[in-house]
Amino acid sequence: MQDSVAAAARAASRDPAGITIIVVTKFHPASLVRELAELGVRDVGENRAQEAKAKASDVDDSRLRWHFIGQLQTNKARLVRGFASAVHSLDRPSLVDVLSSEAGGVLDCFLQLSLSDEPGRGGVSPSELLPLAERVLAAPGLRLRGVMAVAPLGQEPSRAFARVREASERLRALAPEASAISAGMSGDFAAAIAEGATHLRIGTAITGKRPDHV
Ligand SMILES: *Cc1c(COP(=O)(O)O)cnc(C)c1O
Repeated sequence: MQDSVAAAARAASRDPAGITIIVVTKFHPASLVRELAELGVRDVGENRAQEAKAKASDVDDSRLRWHFIGQLQTNKARLVRGFASAVHSLDRPSLVDVLSSEAGGVLDCFLQLSLSDEPGRGGVSPSELLPLAERVLAAPGLRLRGVMAVAPLGQEPSRAFARVREASERLRALAPEASAISAGMSGDFAAAIAEGATHLRIGTAITGKRPDHV
């Protein structure tokens, strides 16, 4: 995987060192996360609050950074605050208010963009991006890192990621340090790297098929 990422970075005239691979371990047991940690993985991604919390306390490895990448219900936000280093799915003001905290360290925040017109899939609309960013910037305990997106099915990923880059540029005009772009999965990471992705969320291409889940 590192070789493929490095090749895609070179093809885009980018330094591979500027790209973080988050290994998505959702549905996999804690034992897999332990093996990954022994292999040197430091960033893992999970998309369900309770499963992630249980796994993080089971693995209990302070070298790991847990990234929460799934849709987050407001009533689960405190739970996620307890174990996560980063939340990639911040998409509404009520979540900012619950995640913000004077105590308990700094939580990295990515604002999830809505790239499809389907309601209910999460993500902030283009017109709400900067107001939401301002709210994060004013919130104690939160550090605004940048934007996040999932390329919609049935759309050319490079077009979707070009829109992400545009949104990132608008955000950086307001908050220059919020320059990270969380985009790219197993099937589309090269297109995401070409459009400036700094954080890839890779599951199956590293872990193989996910176990069946209910
Ligand atoms: C599952 C998931 C991924 C990883 O997907 P793969 O296709 O297995 O690489 C990335 N991002 C999000 C938000 C996910 O839910």
